[in-house]
Amino acid sequence: MDRQNKKTSPFCKQKEKMIFKMIGKVIKKLLFCFIVLILLQGFDESPPDKPADTSIDFTYPGGKHKALIMSFDDGCIADITLAALFDKYKIIGTFNISSGPIGTTQIWSVKNGDTIRQSYLSEKTILKIYKNHEIAAHGATHKNFLKIGKEEILEQINVDIQKLSFLTKRKINSIAYPFGAANDSVSKIVATTGITNARTVKSTNNFELPENLLLWNPTCRDDKALDFLDDYLKLNPKKLSVFYVWGHSWELGNGKRWDNMVQFCKSISNRKDIWYVGSGTLANYINATKKVKIKDNIITNPKGNLIVWLNLSSGVTRLKPGNHIKI
Ligand SMILES: [Zn+2]
Repeated sequence: MDRQNKKTSPFCKQKEKMIFKMIGKVIKKLLFCFIVLILLQGFDESPPDKPADTSIDFTYPGGKHKALIMSFDDGCIADITLAALFDKYKIIGTFNISSGPIGTTQIWSVKNGDTIRQSYLSEKTILKIYKNHEIAAHGATHKNFLKIGKEEILEQINVDIQKLSFLTKRKINSIAYPFGAANDSVSKIVATTGITNARTVKSTNNFELPENLLLWNPTCRDDKALDFLDDYLKLNPKKLSVFYVWGHSWELGNGKRWDNMVQFCKSISNRKDIWYVGSGTLANYINATKKVKIKDNIITNPKGNLIVWLNLSSGVTRLKPGNHIKI
């Protein structure tokens, strides 16, 4: 009898099957949720360009709200004259150099089927002419980042960083995309290299700070800079702004385009309300403002951050890292 009682009835077997099926379904659902969570965590990179707290009126050093970046690509010998022009007017240039062709002459194909011959600066000249300017990467052999894979993009950037930082003994944290070619996924690859800001060639025609420092669209190319000059000189911004000009020194020649560059530099130089700065320095400052916190009317600049400048009702104030100020 006992044995008979222990025998499972077909009804019980069916019930057991159903329970196992349900447990299986629950496990599957949990597993699915777990995978989704992992994936979400993987993509949940805190945006590199979270805006700074808008309730704080940040200024650039000295209480300025305006800045000028002059960003020129390739590291060709025409940079010698341009860097000297910037020196004359105390303008800081950002020179984006491909480390591969340093000291060589290369023949490049251009759109209409012609070729151009480019002579690149030697190591010795680089150290001399960019003394007062920033040096940035430009892709070791100037490959189009939209036409190569992730590994090759990383190589193009890392070789530049290694070579240029070894040569100049400076930290290289900026890049101008070769051909200006970039998109969202390229910028995410760049973000893994230690580069803090990367310039495209897409004009914004305005003086706004970028939403994403790794897809930093400049104001305009050098040939349009004079068109925006008066607007920027007259501008009295209540927030941080930047006039960001890009170009190639080898395109300036010695005619009208060069004369325009001279006129631009002369007119925009020596202004008390403009910070003449390289893109790397400006990017570092923008990132520093994003780390400043405000709570219960107390502004705190965390330890290890840069000095930040604030425009308070009491006047322009310099807030050191590790310090706070009540407003
Ligand atoms: Zn280039």
